[in-house]
Amino acid sequence: MQPDEEVLAVHETRCCVVGGGPGGLMLALLLARRGVPVTLLEAHPTFDRDFRGDTIHPGLLEILDEIGLADRLHLLQHVKMYGPTIPSPDGPFLLFDLRRLLKTRFPYIMWMPQPIFLQFLAQEAAKHPSFRLVMGANVQRMIEENGTVRGVRYRAADGWHEVRAMLTVGADGRFSRMRKLGEFEQIETSSPIELLWFRLPRLPGDPEATGVASPRFGKGYVLILIDRADHWQVGCFIPVGTYPEIREAGLEAMRQRIVALEPRFAENVETLTDWHQFSLLSVASARCTRWFEPGLLLIGDAAHPMTPAAGSGIKYAIEDAVVAANLLTGPLLAGRLSLRNLAAVQRKREWPTRIIQAFGAFAMGRLGKALRSGKTVSPPRFLKLLFRLPLVKRLFANLIAFGFWRVHVKN
Ligand SMILES: Cc1cc2nc3c(=O)[nH]c(=O)nc-3n(C[C@H](O)[C@H](O)[C@H](O)COP(=O)(O)OP(=O)(O)OC[C@H]3O[C@@H](n4cnc5c(N)ncnc54)[C@H](O)[C@@H]3O)c2cc1C
Repeated sequence: MQPDEEVLAVHETRCCVVGGGPGGLMLALLLARRGVPVTLLEAHPTFDRDFRGDTIHPGLLEILDEIGLADRLHLLQHVKMYGPTIPSPDGPFLLFDLRRLLKTRFPYIMWMPQPIFLQFLAQEAAKHPSFRLVMGANVQRMIEENGTVRGVRYRAADGWHEVRAMLTVGADGRFSRMRKLGEFEQIETSSPIELLWFRLPRLPGDPEATGVASPRFGKGYVLILIDRADHWQVGCFIPVGTYPEIREAGLEAMRQRIVALEPRFAENVETLTDWHQFSLLSVASARCTRWFEPGLLLIGDAAHPMTPAAGSGIKYAIEDAVVAANLLTGPLLAGRLSLRNLAAVQRKREWPTRIIQAFGAFAMGRLGKALRSGKTVSPPRFLKLLFRLPLVKRLFANLIAFGFWRVHVKN
């Protein structure tokens, strides 16, 4: 401990969750509703965050329904999306239609601003007396005794605090500090593309907000326009390493690229006056070879950073949380948690994650090749032919909605 690290207070709990994203909040909620004492530490003072996806897939809505929350969630601001219509030179192309899904109350992806969703989960968790939430708690140290993790030390506005727990869960996202502190080995999948990310204002003449995302295909780049009600969130996929050239070509050239694909943005792009308004995002994914060590488990992006391009990281983080809660609630309540319990979580979740990451890498590889060719990018012809088959459409819709294995909450 450094001399300036005097600990002001020590709190004891059964499970300490680091990170109040979708994965951490869902795990804390599920443990608390079963009576496990749980403390959730979130570095930020509020759940307002940079845009990190707004999608709640049918499989997640079913999970929320299993714990009696789906109807309440539907009372909050959201939009339903039934399937993406992709413009292509041969006309619009409907990839899949979730309304054809059988056996579900929720045949749609719910688009809900993530801060609203996270706040909702936190409020539901707070109804259980064994739940404790500390906002503005930036975890920086791990407490280890005789080779077992026994909790963490975090910095708050008033100084250092300690949380001691039988189990610590790192749910602290893509740049996880718990992953670094635990020295977990990570395998990265390189990506041939990057995402240039920026906002445009909504102007009075803009069409009515729908909340959904739509792609536009250009020569050597693809735009994703996400209608966020009060502004447009825009992503521009570019070949990896080409951002310096784009900057050199100047802002006017960038504005023209945008307007070439979306002419109605001619006025909106005038607000792009500085490269600081753009951020460059890696769309690479990665995974830890091992998700646990004695007293410590990683879940969600901390264990397997998902490519934002696949649009399913929230689903996988929440499913990890459900599986972890299913397998660990009993041992935590009994006060007997073994390494085998933690290994079981990785065993159940690793393959679904690896398969979706492999799909994402394949799709990104194809897109990267198309972008590099310098020709107008368009969904491949074989894909369009394949997706004319009703069976393929239905299988794909099922895969998007529920993944390879459905995850259920065990009460
Ligand atoms: C631009 C972008 C767009 C995306 N779009 C989508 C999409 O449309 N659909 C989709 O499903 N996924 C999308 N994703 C991916 C998705 O956001 C992640 O996969 C998902 O949020 C992972 O959830 P998580 O709970 O594991 O981690 P996160 O959501 O990253 O949450 C981690 C939390 O831990 C906190 N934290 C970090 N360090 C500390 C610390 N030291 N102490 C305490 N707290 C800490 C953070 O503040 C954060 O709240 C997108 C990602 C990006 C970047």
